[in-house]
Amino acid sequence: MKYLTLKYRSTKKMKKCIICLKKKVINEFNEEHIFPEAIGGNLKIYDCCKLCNSKMGSKIDNELTNNEYIKIIRFLLKIKGKNGIINPFNTLLNSAFEGIKGKLIFEKSGKYSKFEIIQKTIIETENSLKIVCDSDNMEGMLKTINKKIAKSNQPPYTFEDLRKNTTSISHPKLNNIDIKINLENDNKALIYIIPELLKITYELGYYHFKEKYLKDPTSIAIRNAIEEIISGKLIIDMPTYIEIDGFNWKDIKRYNSYQFLIKNNKIICHLNILNFITARIVLSKNSNDYKLINENINESVF
Ligand SMILES: [Zn+2]
Repeated sequence: MKYLTLKYRSTKKMKKCIICLKKKVINEFNEEHIFPEAIGGNLKIYDCCKLCNSKMGSKIDNELTNNEYIKIIRFLLKIKGKNGIINPFNTLLNSAFEGIKGKLIFEKSGKYSKFEIIQKTIIETENSLKIVCDSDNMEGMLKTINKKIAKSNQPPYTFEDLRKNTTSISHPKLNNIDIKINLENDNKALIYIIPELLKITYELGYYHFKEKYLKDPTSIAIRNAIEEIISGKLIIDMPTYIEIDGFNWKDIKRYNSYQFLIKNNKIICHLNILNFITARIVLSKNSNDYKLINENINESVF
C-alpha cells in the first residue's frame, strides 16, 4: 500500500516588491506602467506593491506628466490618460482680445472647436462701458447691459439698440492656433524629471534581467534613491550617471522608446520620451554579468 501525503497549499501567495523589497501577499500588488500611462506607456510589470506604486505615481510620475510642456504635448498628440484627453488651455487668457477672457474649446477627441468668450466681461472707462458677450447669447448681453445702466437713470436697452451698438469681433486665425513657448530658460525643469528617468531605467533593468538586476550595485543605488524620493526626501547624490539632452520641441512624436547599449563594460539605457526628452542613464557597470541577446534592444512602447 502506498500513501500519498497531501499538503494544503497556502492560498496566500507571497512575492517581493522590487521597490520596498518587502514580501507581501499577491493581492497587495498591481500593475505598474514602466513609462507612465498618461504619456502613453503600455509596458507593464507586476512586481511593485500597491503602496509603492501609488507613492511613485504621486511623487515621481506626477512631476513628469504634469509638467506644463508635457501637458501640452499630451494634448497635441491626443494621448488619453486615465481621465481622457485633458485640455491645458482651459483658462487661457488670449492677449489678442485685449483683456477679454475666453476659453479655447476642444472636442473630446482633442479637435479644436471654438473660442468661447467668458460671459459678461466688462471693461469700464470714464465715459464708456464695453461689455463683451458671446454673439449667440444676445439675451444674456441685454440683461447685463440693463443691469449695469439701471443705476444711471437711462432708459433700458432694447434688442434694436443692441444691434446698432454691437460690434462683432472674431479672432483672425482661430482655426490655426500658433503656440509659442520659450524654452530657453526652462532647462531647470529637467531636474524635476530625473526621478522619473531613474524609475524607468530601474524598472527596465528588472524587466529584462529579472531578480539578477536587483543585486546589481547600480540597481541598488537607484532603488535607494527611488525610496528616498517616494518618502519625501531629496536626493543629493545622483545614484548613477545621467545625461539629458534637454527639451526638443520641434519634432514631438507619439511614442516612447528605449535602447540598451554597451560601452566600456557599462549598460547604458537610452531613453526617449515622446521625442521631447532624450537621456542616457547608466543601468549597470557590469555588462559582463548579463546576457544581452542583441547588443541593441530597441523597443517601442506605444
Ligand atoms: Zn513596495
